[in-house]
Amino acid sequence: MKIKDLGEFGLIEKIKKLTKVSNDVVGIGDDCAIIPFGNKELLVTTDGLVEGVHFFSDIDPYLLGRKAISVNLSDIAAMAGIPKWAFLSISLKSNTDVQWIDKLLDGFLDVLNEFRVELLGGDTTAAGQTVINITLIGINDLGSSIRRSGAKKGDLVAVSGEIGCSFVGLKALINNIKGYEDEKQKHLNPKPRISEALKIKPYANAMIDVSDGLVKDCMHICETSKVGMKLYLDSIPICKNDIITEKEALCGGEDYELVFCFSNEHKNIIENMEEFTIIGEVVEGEQIQLFKNGISLEVEDCGFRHF
Ligand code: ADP
Ligand code: MG
Repeated sequence: MKIKDLGEFGLIEKIKKLTKVSNDVVGIGDDCAIIPFGNKELLVTTDGLVEGVHFFSDIDPYLLGRKAISVNLSDIAAMAGIPKWAFLSISLKSNTDVQWIDKLLDGFLDVLNEFRVELLGGDTTAAGQTVINITLIGINDLGSSIRRSGAKKGDLVAVSGEIGCSFVGLKALINNIKGYEDEKQKHLNPKPRISEALKIKPYANAMIDVSDGLVKDCMHICETSKVGMKLYLDSIPICKNDIITEKEALCGGEDYELVFCFSNEHKNIIENMEEFTIIGEVVEGEQIQLFKNGISLEVEDCGFRHF
């Protein structure tokens, strides 16, 4: 059996089964691990960007530096945490210009400063292709992090921003399509939704950031919360464009928006926050049902996975 047969999520599941963690911590399976510490809890996440997989070799290094930290900040946002400390591991080709790495660090440090995160360490190695890996630690009051597993039947589902814009930007970049500047920015320079997460923290029962694609990430909430979802396509704020299909918008990854579930009793409050749109509801079962004009559509198991 090859790794591509096992799949990215199959491999993570296999690793999870091989490990045991103490009762008071949350390990593999959420956007961050949760480690209780006095009357606080630490949130820890790690994510890497790999040349040829996540970015093209001719990428603007400043934007790469920004994105590398932003995707990690997005995982802290998904738990409604406050980001605090970062570790930066870089693997570089030996002929990389120092100017290139200077620009990468500029982008990286600009975002660190914007979110008042301190860099505490890292690692530097040579490699055949560039890899930027960041470990980020955040903090929350004990028990206050929003996990993927808290969705309840009867909850409503909402999303921040628009869905599919990053994929529109990617497609425009790959195919040299003029225009779509905001979408290209969304792909190259995603904005972590830390402040948005804090705004809905009092109401959210479950939350995830959209990295694999809206449908796939909703599926992650369903699996861990042991619920199903009805999503209404007419309500989903899909990025306006002429270059990707609705399905690609729902399945394309890297939106770095937030999807969260909250009790129906807070519907008015969430409806009045302009950053968010209600897109569905939590139901019994373990599947996602997609509706368009009241008609049920086939939901494919779509979304980005490495293998
Ligand atoms: P995200 O997209 O939110 O960054 P991932 O899909 O990368 O989340 O990971 C899902 C979960 O699996 C996370 O809890 C992550 O820490 C864990 N995970 C992923 N890869 C590994 C690995 N190689 N070893 C241990 N845990 C892993
Ligand atoms: Mg995540």
